[in-house]
Order: sequence, then C-alpha cells, then structure tokens
Amino acid sequence: MSSENAYLVGLLLSGRKVVVVGGGTVAQRRLPLLIAHGADVHVIARAATPAVEALSRDKPGITLQLRDFREGDLEGAWYVIAATDDSAVNAAVADEAERRHTFCVRADVARDGSAVTPATFEYDGLSIGVTAGGEHRRSAAIRSAIHEALQRGIVAADAPDAVTSGVALVGGGPGDPELITVRGRRLLAHADVVVADRLAPQDLLAELGPHVEVIDAAKIPYGRAMAQDAINQVIVERARAGKFVVRLKGGDPFVFARGYEELLACTEAGIPVTVVPGVTSAIAVPALAGVPVTHRGMTHEFVVVSGHVAPGHPESLVNWNALAAMNGTIVLLMAVERIELFAKVLLEGGRPADTPVLVVQHGTTVAQRTLRATLGDAPERIREDGIRPPAIIVIGAVAGFGG
Ligand code: SAH
Repeated sequence: MSSENAYLVGLLLSGRKVVVVGGGTVAQRRLPLLIAHGADVHVIARAATPAVEALSRDKPGITLQLRDFREGDLEGAWYVIAATDDSAVNAAVADEAERRHTFCVRADVARDGSAVTPATFEYDGLSIGVTAGGEHRRSAAIRSAIHEALQRGIVAADAPDAVTSGVALVGGGPGDPELITVRGRRLLAHADVVVADRLAPQDLLAELGPHVEVIDAAKIPYGRAMAQDAINQVIVERARAGKFVVRLKGGDPFVFARGYEELLACTEAGIPVTVVPGVTSAIAVPALAGVPVTHRGMTHEFVVVSGHVAPGHPESLVNWNALAAMNGTIVLLMAVERIELFAKVLLEGGRPADTPVLVVQHGTTVAQRTLRATLGDAPERIREDGIRPPAIIVIGAVAGFGG
C-alpha cells in the first residue's frame, strides 16, 4: 500500500472554473462528468479529438481554446487537470497550480500532482469512488466489482423511498445469462416473485434467493380460462398483494412474447408496469452463430417473422409473397414445425433455391447447435438433423457468412 494514499473528498463544482489542459482521450473521458457536475470547464489544448470538439460545440459550460498552455491560464481555477501527452507541459501546469494552491491532477505521473481521480461510478443517487495508491487496474477492478454487486443486488443500495413495486416486464435475452440488460438484472435481484417463461435464461433463476417465489408460467393451472389469462391473473394477484413481480421472458418482451397483453392487464388493474427491453434472439442468436442480420452492400432490410401459423391459414397476418419477393434477410421464429410450408411458399414466390439458410437451435446456450443449408434443402436437412424448437431460421445472403 502506498504511504501516500489520497484523502477522498467530493468536490461541488457547480459554476466553478475547472481548467483541463489537453484535448486527447484522457480529457475526453473526464469532460462529460465535469460538465454533468455543472463545472465551468475551460479546455486548453494544441489539438482536440473530434469528441472533445463536439462536446465544446454542443454542451453549455465548456469552452475550448486551441493553443498552447500559458502561465496565468489557471487564474481563478478551483481544480485543474493536466492531461497533455507532453510531460514538460503537464509539469508546468502542475507547477502553476501548486503555486496557486489549486488542486491538480497529473494524468501522466499521478504522484507529481496534488490530487488523483478515483475510479468512479454513479448508481441510483450514490457516487462511489475508489483509489488504490496509484494502482489503476486495482481501483478500476474494485470499482467494477462493487458496481456489479449493486446491480446484482448482492449489496443492497436502495434509497429508502425507492421501494420497487408493481410489475417489471423484463426481457431476459436469448439464453446466455450474461445477455440480460443491466436494468433487468438489477430489478430481478429485487423481485419477490418471478414469473418465468420456459425460454427465459434458466441460470438467472438459479441466482435468486430462497425467499423468492419462482412461478413457471408454463405450469400455471388455467382450467376454463386461457393460459395467458391465467398468467395475467397470477401477475396481477401477486402485485396486488404488495409483492414486486418480475415477469421474466426470453429475448425481448415485445417480440412474439405477448408482453403487451400483460402490460395491458396490469394497467387495467391499476398496477404500475416497468418495461425493460431485452436482447432479442432474432438478432442475437444469428450474431453469436456468426451471422449478422444486415451487412453493408448486401442487405438493406431484415424481417422478423413468426411461423406460428401456416401460410394461407385464416389467422395468418404474414404476406409471404411479399417476403418471397424481397431481397433482404428473413429471420423466422417458431418455424421449425412448418418449415416445409414456409420454404415452399418462398421458393414459389421467387426466392432462389440456393439462398443460404442458417438454423440455430438453443442459441447462445451450451446446447447450441447450428445447421447450414439452402432454401432448397433446408426442410430436409432440418428433419435429418432432428432440429427441434427453440430454433431460429435465417434466410438470405448473410446466412452464408461464417460457415
Ligand atoms: N421474445 C423472444 C421470442 C419469443 S418466440 C425473443 O425476443 O427472442 C419464441 C421463439 O424464439 C422460439 O420458438 C425460437 O424460434 C426463438 N428463440 C428464442 N430463444 C432462442 C434461442 N436461444 N435459440 C434459438 N431460438 C430461440
């Protein structure tokens, strides 16, 4: 441990002059926070990155002067950051600051300044900073660990008046537990009740405390009501009983997941709903199997289509002829069962038989399986390989990538 660890203090910078000397990436990283804290920021730099220039152009409270640092530039400053790539200039800045008794961070040689920048983050009204006697990697690692612990609810940090209540409709991502959003994970950590879909990442459920009631949406008894009504009822009932309910879904809650019906059921019952979008399998599953849904110069559109009903079925809302006629990527969900019908209608509508096809079962999980085929032979290959739902079928030129 350094004998000279920093004494941590919080600066109230609102309206106070702060001088940043240098306009490179170090300045670029500091400026947004200084501006956010209301400082009157003066940047003096020989050259500035485009991001620094854009900040000084677009944000109030920051001025940029493209010139060399001069003695006297620190006049009236409360706080100084010397962040040029020229150590002689940084030393001159630190010198002047020292003479003026103004705290100065030296980005190049921290111990030659009079202040250090902690590794920080803000979370729900908290400001948390870490210093480690100049060991930047250590302070950054501890900062990130604390941040993650808060997000996962391992450390509870709720403001007393920010009690989570009502229902959160959370997209859990495609399966890999790391692909839930930060907000989704935080809310999950506060749940009293979790109503989970079969496709919601199961590893996330394993992390829940023993006091959390986990309800498998597929197993809710529904007697005379429809399954979806029964799910809506459970959600509303638990929320009415004062529980914080997380409705955890696979992918995104509004992509073929009936999330909006659940939202309506809650709002009709007067229960507040927080929507937390998720990483949809429609994009993420192909991506992690090596296929981008768009690629410059190749496709200017992609369409996500439900294969829940057959083409020509009275309830079908899909214009399969239009899909057959377009050039872009088609991403089929829930389509394994009827792939013969979809391939046929696309071929008949004019999609070439050699159009590449990618099939991914259990994408982003340890059970992931992929299959590469063409539109002409995809149905046969899918049956041969025994592909079962859940699977994504990508049709289009991009599906030829990564094979
Ligand atoms: N809301 C979800 C989609 C629900 S529809 C989302 O945004 O991802 C269910 C269909 O999604 C499945 O039948 C399958 O086609 C697809 N799907 C979901 N997760 C998947 C995964 N991990 N791998 C492959 N397909 C998946």
